[in-house]
Amino acid sequence: ISMKLKAAAEVKEKSKCHFKILHSITEVNENSSVHGLIVQLPLDSIHKIDTEKVTNAVAPEKDVDGLTSINAGKLSRGDLGDCFIPCTPNGCMELIKQTGVSVAGKRAVVLGRSKIVGAPMHDLLLWNHATVTTCHSKTADLAGEVSKADILVVGIGKAEMVKGEWIKKGAVVIDCGINHIPDETKASGKRVVGDVHYASATEQAGYITPVPGGVGPMTVAMLMANTVLSAKRFLETHQPGKWNIS
Ligand code: NAP
Repeated sequence: ISMKLKAAAEVKEKSKCHFKILHSITEVNENSSVHGLIVQLPLDSIHKIDTEKVTNAVAPEKDVDGLTSINAGKLSRGDLGDCFIPCTPNGCMELIKQTGVSVAGKRAVVLGRSKIVGAPMHDLLLWNHATVTTCHSKTADLAGEVSKADILVVGIGKAEMVKGEWIKKGAVVIDCGINHIPDETKASGKRVVGDVHYASATEQAGYITPVPGGVGPMTVAMLMANTVLSAKRFLETHQPGKWNIS
């Protein structure tokens, strides 16, 4: 019985925790002076929280991270003008466009298939008319797939795993990785590197993003851009200041 009571207390605590998060999200959803709401992941709690349930509680029209199923579904179907695109892939796409290399018809390879980086990056490249291959931890020949890429976007969370010799000469290489590796020369004892081995990759790539200082700042900029876009869409719909006198 004591075990059952303990389990029941845990369930009660967990549901209270869920209720509090969902209640806070609903409050922001209903506040018309707020146009952007993000749920910072991973959720930090001693209780296991259903991340999908929490991210999907965000109103799709305020979901400036683009993580709700509604926005992800629209992106996967190519409705790019009617959704919020997740900030990291959106920033990657902007960086690719800035190179001047046209995406249409190119062979693009994405490493990683997470909801926040790889999967939306795949969709975004596809609807910008690239031919896209997405690789993951079960991909048989990662180096072989990478070698075919005119455009390579990497988001796997593995320090410097992608080597220069895998990369096609002249490819556009976008490195989303943020990894901390030991470095005794630093006061902190560590430094940040990407998922691509920058020194060897830079010999092969036509364009390559550094880590830090490449995709990270673009992600922040895209979050601001999505929030402004959300406010604009709200104002276009509600037209405050105009009186409907008729
Ligand atoms: P995640 O959720 O852990 O997903 C990692 C993906 O990489 C998974 O799809 C996984 O495959 C794949 N993968 C793992 N090991 C692999 C391997 N050895 N070979 C091929 N694929 C492999 O990570 P994430 O959230 O997408 O983040 C990825 C990286 O981007 C991290 O370094 C993260 O810090 C960084 N990031 C940066 C920003 C930014 O603002 N710059 C934003 C978000 C993330 P499975 O699906 O088969 O497990």
